[in-house]
Amino acid sequence: MKTLSKYSIGLGDRFGHQGSAQLKAIIAASEKGIDVTPVWNKSNREHNTIGTQPVDVRIEADSVTKSAGFKKPYFVDADHINLDTVDRFIECSDFFTIDVASYIGMKATENEIIEFLSGAEKYTGELNIAGTNLSFETSRSQIEQIAEKYLFASIKARDIYRKIEKVKGNGNFVTEVSMDEVIQPQTPVELFFILKMLASENIPVQTIAPKFSGRFNKGVDYVGDPLLFAKEFESDLSVIDYAVKEFGLPENLKMSIHSGSDKFAIYPHIGSIIKKSDKGIHLKTAGTTWLEEVIGLAETGGEGLDFVKEIYIKSLEKIDELCAPYADVIDIKIISLPSKQDVSGWNSNKFSNSIKHIPGNPDYNPNMRQLIHVAYKLAALRIEEYFRLLEKNEDAVSKCVFENIYNRHICRLLDIK
Ligand SMILES: [Zn+2]
Repeated sequence: MKTLSKYSIGLGDRFGHQGSAQLKAIIAASEKGIDVTPVWNKSNREHNTIGTQPVDVRIEADSVTKSAGFKKPYFVDADHINLDTVDRFIECSDFFTIDVASYIGMKATENEIIEFLSGAEKYTGELNIAGTNLSFETSRSQIEQIAEKYLFASIKARDIYRKIEKVKGNGNFVTEVSMDEVIQPQTPVELFFILKMLASENIPVQTIAPKFSGRFNKGVDYVGDPLLFAKEFESDLSVIDYAVKEFGLPENLKMSIHSGSDKFAIYPHIGSIIKKSDKGIHLKTAGTTWLEEVIGLAETGGEGLDFVKEIYIKSLEKIDELCAPYADVIDIKIISLPSKQDVSGWNSNKFSNSIKHIPGNPDYNPNMRQLIHVAYKLAALRIEEYFRLLEKNEDAVSKCVFENIYNRHICRLLDIK
């Protein structure tokens, strides 16, 4: 069976030029004794925006690992797929993020709910999470509510899983189930019963991506109380641990953190909790690599800087269109965005410092960073020019990509000095 190791990171490379630099970060971690499995992910939305095909990610992953002589496992993730979008990913992917968010809240049939409740009945009353001090009071009506909210989504997850399994065969791919793109976070109790549902549907889920409390905006820091997050995260880990034993889910089932890039405020908590409890983690980062490309080009000055200024200025004009698909995962204060006139006069340092995520740097502007994060479509519209600049400035750009993944993400999360 294809199994995902303890630590893994989801790497996004929208324009397909940074695979080597990303892999270098993985190799640097392994030289420090920490193995992190790279998982290249790209969603259907990103493919459609850029005009790429899922197989392009496979070709890139195979080629960069081959040329680096990388002999450890790596994966290609069909990110956030559902029944409608999975087909073109099946052949070339070996990791599937089954996204059931849009099915949450839809109701399963009466019989399906009754059947689930009869199996879940024994968990009414005091639910003690073995091996911890954690316990929850659960009532039949509460479990019924959870079933009404999540059972249909679990059945859909099964349908998607079976569709993939039919082509690829049992055990030949890693399954993740994601529920993060919703407004309401799932509580640890809900997570427990969701895992029961997935187990009942015989889905060998290896990673689960819940929606946590607080905001996980794209490419910027966590918004919320890190201590409350830590408590929730630790409870969820205990629930997963218990559910694995109780329901016979895969032993390596672990938490996946979506929109996980740049959440510097919570990395130390995640790092110390997984270390203490000897658990794994999958951290999904995606769009930050595009941001590093922009930063790298800005730093080279000249036409690279001109190009990224033009992208930013265009993004101000098209802000509504660019932000709409990401409305739930960004928070941009329009009033804090620098104007076209401001940015036109900026030098390399001013531009790159404004979007480089260095908390405490007075030039850092998370609003501008988020807007550029969702503006990759504008580079896709000028793709030949963009690729020419990326290739011409490969050293500067790949250095930014490496530093971001290695120093700011892997080292901070896994406490590598
Ligand atoms: Zn997600």
